Amino acid sequence: MFKKILIANRGEIACRVIKTARHMGIKTVAVYSEADAAALHVDMADEAVAIGPAASAESYLSIEKIVDACKKTKAEAVHPGYGFLSERTAFAEALSKAKIAFIGPNAHAISAMGDKIESKKLAQKAKVNCVPGYIGEIKDLKEAARIAGEIGYPVMVKASAGGGGKGLRIVFKEAELAQAIQSSQHEAKASFGDDRLFIEKYITEPRHIEIQVLGDKHGNVIHLGERECSIQRRHQKVIEEAPSPFLDEKTRAAMGAQAVALAKAVQYESAGTVEFIVDKERNFYFLEMNTRLQVEHPVTELVTGLDLVEQMIRVAAGEKLSIKQEDVKLKGWAIESRIYAEDPYRNFLPSTGRLVRYRPPAEASVVGKTIRNDTGVFEGGEISIFYDPMIAKLCTHANSREAAIDLMGDALDHFSIEGIAHNIPFLQAVMTHERFRAGKLSTNFIAEEFKDGFHGADLTPELKDRMASAAVFMQLREEERRRKISGQVNGVSQVPRDWTVTVNTTDILAVKTMTEGRDVVAVRLGDGKTSRMIEVESSWKPGECSFSGEVAGQAVAMQVSRRGDVFRLVHRGAHASITVRRPRVAALAQYMLVKPPPDTSKFLLCPMPGLVVSIAAQVGQDVKAGEPLAVVEAMKMENVLRAERDGVIKRVAAKPGDSLPVDAVILEFA
Ligand code: ADP
Repeated sequence: MFKKILIANRGEIACRVIKTARHMGIKTVAVYSEADAAALHVDMADEAVAIGPAASAESYLSIEKIVDACKKTKAEAVHPGYGFLSERTAFAEALSKAKIAFIGPNAHAISAMGDKIESKKLAQKAKVNCVPGYIGEIKDLKEAARIAGEIGYPVMVKASAGGGGKGLRIVFKEAELAQAIQSSQHEAKASFGDDRLFIEKYITEPRHIEIQVLGDKHGNVIHLGERECSIQRRHQKVIEEAPSPFLDEKTRAAMGAQAVALAKAVQYESAGTVEFIVDKERNFYFLEMNTRLQVEHPVTELVTGLDLVEQMIRVAAGEKLSIKQEDVKLKGWAIESRIYAEDPYRNFLPSTGRLVRYRPPAEASVVGKTIRNDTGVFEGGEISIFYDPMIAKLCTHANSREAAIDLMGDALDHFSIEGIAHNIPFLQAVMTHERFRAGKLSTNFIAEEFKDGFHGADLTPELKDRMASAAVFMQLREEERRRKISGQVNGVSQVPRDWTVTVNTTDILAVKTMTEGRDVVAVRLGDGKTSRMIEVESSWKPGECSFSGEVAGQAVAMQVSRRGDVFRLVHRGAHASITVRRPRVAALAQYMLVKPPPDTSKFLLCPMPGLVVSIAAQVGQDVKAGEPLAVVEAMKMENVLRAERDGVIKRVAAKPGDSLPVDAVILEFA
C-alpha cells in the first residue's frame, strides 16, 4: 500500500479523498493555488505545496507543477478527483513516466472514452445499446441535414469532445439545424479546441441513469448499481439519487451487464461511470463513460456501504477487488443535493463572496437514517470567482425514498448560509414538489416545473401557521429577555397575551398566548370558528439563526433573520416576513414612514462580481425587452444580461475587460 499520496484537486473532493486516505493510514499532500492558500483541503492535508496563481490553467491544470510537487514530497500516487486533470490522458502518461501511480484508469481507457464518437464506436463493438444516430463526424450542413432526416427529428447535435453540457443543441426541425451546428461548433471550439460534431436521436422525456463500475488490474469488473441524475438545469446535474425510482431488477441487471462489458472492453481498472439515457419504455442508450470519480458518488456509497475512494486506492496499488458482483446489495435510498453559490431568485446567477455564516446540519447516523455533508468550505472562508460554485453536497440515506426525501427536507431546513446567495430554497422546493415525490422524473423536470424561474416555494396555509406560531414563540423569548434588563426607567410592563401577527405585510392574524412554560408555548391563531391551537416547543434563544423544535407535534426547523421588528423566516423553501406586535402597536404601524428602496430600474447593474466580456448596446440605442445587453463572466460561466423592458440607452458605464463588483452600473437608460 502507498505511504503517501498527492491530491491534484481542491474543494470538497480534495477533502473527501484526504478523509479516506487518513482512515487508511496514508499520508496526504495537498496542492493549492494562490487563491486557496487558506482553503480547507490545505488545512486537512499532512503537507501542502503551492502550485501557482489562481487561474486553473496555471495551477490545478499544470501537469508539470503537479508532477514536480509529487517529486518534491515523494508522493507515490496521485488522486485526481474530478474535473481539472482527472480525464487527461497526458496527465496519466506524465505520471507513469515519472513512476508515480495514477489513482484512476489506464491512459488508454481515458483516451478511448474521452471522445464521444470514439467511445460510441467502442460501445457498439461491445454490444452496448447506443442512441440511434450517426456514429461519425459530420462534415457539412448538407450531410448533417441528410443524417438528421434519416434519424428523424428531434435530433441532438453534440460535440465529440464535449463535457459539462457544452456544445449540446436540440434541433426540432431542419430550419433550426444550421444555427444549432454553428453555435455548437463555436462553443466546442472555444471550450475544447476541437469542433468535431455528431448527431444522434433526441430521446424525448428522457431520464439520465448511470451505472457505477469498479475494476481492478486483474481483469475483474463489477457494477455497483445505478444513480438517477434526471434533475438537471441546463444539462447539469442538481439532485441525484440511488437507486432510481424507475428501474426494475431486469433493466438494472441489463444496464449493469452492458456497463461491465464496456468497461472490460477498455481494461478498465478503477472506479468509473457509464451514463445512459432512458426513455419512457425503459429502453436505455449509452451516452458516454466518465473515467473518474463522479461528483455524485456518495449516493452509491450510502446504498452499497462501500468507500469508492478506498476501492480506487486499493486497485491502484494492485490489490484484487475483494467484492464480487453477488456481494453487492443495494440497501435503502440515498439522495444528494448540490448546494451551489447561486441566486435561484435571479435566474441562478452565480454568487461570490465571504461565507459570513456557514452552519451545515450535523452529520449523523442513527438507525436507518444518515446525513452526510461533503464540503470544502468553512465559516469565514470565501467563495471566489475562479472555481466551481459548489459549496457542499448534502446527502441523506434512509430506508425508503420517501424517508430519504423527508430527511433531506429536514437537513436543508437546518442548513444556515449567509453572506452569499445559495440554492437551498430551490432544492427545498424540489423536495416538496408532488411530481418529484412521485418519482415522475425527466431531465426536463426543472424546465417544465419552474417555467418562469423560481420565486420561492408556495407558502401553504400549513407552512404559514407553522411559521407564524414559531415567530410568536421567538417574540415571547425576546420579550422575556428584554424584561430581564436591569435599570430600566419604568420597568417593562407585563408581556401581553394578545398579539397581532402580520405575514408578508398583508396577512393579518390575531393571536393569543394561551399557556407558556419554559420551552413550551401554546398559542391560538385566528378567531372564531377557524381558530386553531398550536403548541410550540423549542430551546431557541434570541440571536440564534436557526429555529428548531416541535410545532403542532411535528419536528421542524427554519432559518431566522431579524431586521428591525420583522422576522424573516425560510422553511421548506418558502419565505415569510412576519411581525408579532401588540395590537395597539400594530394599529399604529401603518402611520410609520417607510423608506422607499432606491430606484434602480433605470440601470443595468452587474449581478455578481465578474469580468465584462462584451457590451452589445450603444448610447442612443433603442433596446427591446429580452435583448442581450452585456456578457459578464464569473466562475467560468458567461452570463448574458438582458434588457428587462424596452428603453433607450443613455450611458455606457463599463467596457470589455473591466472587473466589476456586484451592483456596479453597466448601462443607464434614459
Ligand atoms: P456532457 O458530456 O456535456 O455532460 P452528455 O452526453 O453526458 O454531455 O449529456 C448531458 C445531458 O444532456 C444528459 O444528461 C441528458 O440530460 C441530455 N442528453 C444528452 N444526449 C441526449 C439525447 N440523445 N436525448 C436526450 N437528452 C440527451
